Amino acid sequence: MTIHIIGAGVGGLTTGALLTSKGYDVHIIEKSTKLGGRTASMTYKNHILDNGFHIMPFYKKSAIFSVFKKIGIEDRMKLAKVDDIAFHSSTGFHKYPKGIGDLLQLSLIPFKSRISLLKLLLPMAFTSMEKTEEWDDKSLTEVTRKLDDETKAFFEAVCMLAFADTADHISLGEFARTMIRANPFKGGTSEFAYPDNGGYDSICKVLADYIIEKGGSIETGQSIKKIRVENSRVTGYITKDDKEISTNSMVISYPAYDALKELFEPGVIDSDFVEKINKLDKKTAVVEVHFALNKKIDTRQVIFPVGDHYTTKGVFFISNITPSVSPPGEHLIIAGTPVEPSVTESSQKIKDIVNKMKEEISAIYPDFTSSLLWERPMAWKLVESVVKEPGLVWKSKMPHQIPGITGLFFVGDSTISYGIGTDSAAHSSILCEPLILSHLK
Ligand SMILES: Cc1cc2nc3c(=O)[nH]c(=O)nc-3n(C[C@H](O)[C@H](O)[C@H](O)COP(=O)(O)OP(=O)(O)OC[C@H]3O[C@@H](n4cnc5c(N)ncnc54)[C@H](O)[C@@H]3O)c2cc1C
Repeated sequence: MTIHIIGAGVGGLTTGALLTSKGYDVHIIEKSTKLGGRTASMTYKNHILDNGFHIMPFYKKSAIFSVFKKIGIEDRMKLAKVDDIAFHSSTGFHKYPKGIGDLLQLSLIPFKSRISLLKLLLPMAFTSMEKTEEWDDKSLTEVTRKLDDETKAFFEAVCMLAFADTADHISLGEFARTMIRANPFKGGTSEFAYPDNGGYDSICKVLADYIIEKGGSIETGQSIKKIRVENSRVTGYITKDDKEISTNSMVISYPAYDALKELFEPGVIDSDFVEKINKLDKKTAVVEVHFALNKKIDTRQVIFPVGDHYTTKGVFFISNITPSVSPPGEHLIIAGTPVEPSVTESSQKIKDIVNKMKEEISAIYPDFTSSLLWERPMAWKLVESVVKEPGLVWKSKMPHQIPGITGLFFVGDSTISYGIGTDSAAHSSILCEPLILSHLK
């Protein structure tokens, strides 16, 4: 029996790799000609440009890495650590704390505030995963509201690094799970990682090679138009060129709220269920710009400009993380900021944001403008389909199966999982695998 998976992003490929490792026959259908979904990178003027800045949270403790370990291919992917991170405020650069212990030395905030910060973070970092579920409906700002401005700015920067979002959007439960996963005393790590040979989608390429090696197949440039469901069972699907394929096992790996709208005839899925899932359709949008420079303006890997007045929320020195992304003598950085989704549709607004970011980076690095070779702005409306808002996280996300429909599974970052982006997409595959196996048996 062949399992058909729609989408060759992190969710589809981690599910495909887990199933082929158990000897199942997998066929992946991907509408793009590239693998990697939202992680797909490109080459531009001899630099490897990621689809926006991509970074792997929790390094070798991430869900992606656990999939690699589970199937025994962790040595196929060399990772560069991302741990030279700093804040930049009106008082200069301040080292980003690598662990809870470093918080006492955190020069960004006054000493008194460091103690209150520890008092707030320690109980979270040492609580249990189950306990954090009680806080899923609460907002992080409920506990940070009374803090001083410097400490609030610290939370904003942490949220930008860990969630690519602002603190007012984050659920306290999700924040606490991140603290636990970053706690070395609980086996966690606060280190981040990036593929050493450049391009975040190299992770997807390793997974795709493994699937093919194990006898699976991947068809690119093909998309699915409709899924057939008869008597509450999946019976097959129709491709964009009207090929009809019979199967009783399908996995959908792209944002579930889109898939439910596009792939099923009206009435197949219960309308109350569809309405509930549509609530998860909260887009996080960003404007990011790649800059190539002929000079190294900093040796750090990431800096977070701190302060409300900054448009630039993060500057990532990608060629300091790994020089593989750039030709010799050139340096690649990317700066970004979250925006309202409507901003991504206005080229003038994007231009204004980019000009503001250039001014701000020049103020921090006086050599920036004179060493700039080129810039390439981009805007994304759909960064993640992970909703981090109170009440819409973890188990409140799209389930891996629709109650009452047999043979249909959902993975990817919109489905039940915690963590952000690619970490949540891989986590969803780990959680969904036993359900698929039980169906196949
Ligand atoms: C600018 C930007 C920055 C980001 N930064 C980070 C980061 O730093 N860290 C992080 O962890 N995550 C980050 N993310 C998020 C991360 O990329 C996504 O969460 C993750 O890649 C989602 O994987 P997925 O498999 O769930 O979905 P996708 O990657 O969207 O994969 C779904 C696939 O399904 C295919 N598909 C859709 N419809 C059909 C169809 N009908 N037929 C066939 N194929 C179909 C799509 O083409 C796509 O390839 C970022 C995303 C963006 C855009």
